[in-house]
Amino acid sequence: MKIVSLLKKKSKRIFLRVDFNVKIKGNKILDDFRIKSAKKTIDYLIKNNHKIILATHLGNPKEKSPAFSTKNLIPFLKKIFKKEIKFVDDCIGKKVENEIEKLNFGEILLLENLRFKKEEKQNSKSFAKKLKRLADYYVSEAFSVSHRKHASVYTLPKLMKSYYGFQLKKEVEVLSKVLNSPKKPVILILGGAKISTKIPLIKFWQKKASAILVGGALANVFLKANGFYLSDSLVEDKFLGLAKKWQDKVILPIDFYGLSENKKIYLTLKDLSGPKNFSFKILDIGKETINFYQKILKVGETIIWNGPMGLIEDKKFSFGSKSLAKIIKDLNKFSVIGGGETLSIFSSKKLQRNSKIFYSTGGGAMLEFLAGKELPALKVLGL
Ligand code: ADP
Ligand code: MG
Repeated sequence: MKIVSLLKKKSKRIFLRVDFNVKIKGNKILDDFRIKSAKKTIDYLIKNNHKIILATHLGNPKEKSPAFSTKNLIPFLKKIFKKEIKFVDDCIGKKVENEIEKLNFGEILLLENLRFKKEEKQNSKSFAKKLKRLADYYVSEAFSVSHRKHASVYTLPKLMKSYYGFQLKKEVEVLSKVLNSPKKPVILILGGAKISTKIPLIKFWQKKASAILVGGALANVFLKANGFYLSDSLVEDKFLGLAKKWQDKVILPIDFYGLSENKKIYLTLKDLSGPKNFSFKILDIGKETINFYQKILKVGETIIWNGPMGLIEDKKFSFGSKSLAKIIKDLNKFSVIGGGETLSIFSSKKLQRNSKIFYSTGGGAMLEFLAGKELPALKVLGL
């Protein structure tokens, strides 16, 4: 099935599945990159005078609750798309169908959170059939959920004529190139809280990459597997065995910032040789590690980064991630960066987006794609 630009038809009802699962804090969205990335497809559909039935999930609610209503997105969508956004407080049924009937061509109707129905994650066929009634065509701009077998991204496109949007196409093009014919040397940077989601990627790149630089709590697992003492730091102990097994190209940080009795402390690898008379938590990589990683990155031709180097939500521990972001920006080498938290590091003015860097809307989806896995929701789109 073809990219949305082949959709030459005019004045149809388009079910546009996006992933606007963002974090809203007061009157700000922490990571609006995913929303902005859908603009080109939305503008295109408006230009062709279609009715846009905009559908997304928001968070992971167990039941209907105001905090997770997609209604909360409206002021942001209005601003980004410069369009009126109509809303209906359900995603299937008569009421929704009536609203779509009333909608003018070239207008946008936002549906309520798809995950307010448990059938979405259960991949229910009858739910997908109810969604199908709403539109003539399906368009996906939801790369970041394409690793999920959920009703609206996996079953629905099988039931109707389906297309994919501009950003999704770009994602697949760029990531395929990185996967199949990357310019070498390839250097990976992996961080974040959980190693579990990144193990397949580490395995896959163990031979092909020249180095895997680690940071964040993910690095803690490798450090502990190598006998270092980490006191109260966050460590996914379950994965110590796997970390030991898959550490061939892994390069460990050599110094750290952390907290001890609520005070910021600085530690080197030497300090981690055994128990101390104080407890501590490692929360960022240190300045020597940054210098060390910079030297390695300089020889790379392809850089892949997912997961922050520390607890970036706390300004005291965003040094490592911000420094690395600046280094990558200045290096001007082909880089692919993904994951909501990781992208948020680049949102500051100083780190303005760089044309050599591809910012992926995918976190988990990017990790699975770059680990060579087939993504179910891409497969049904013929990708
Ligand atoms: P995942 O979603 O798999 O946990 P992410 O890449 O999204 O991985 O991880 C992001 C989170 O990891 C951030 O919220 C960040 O605060 C946290 N994090 C990174 N390093 C540490 C650390 N050393 N200790 C605790 N949390 C950390
Ligand atoms: Mg995350």
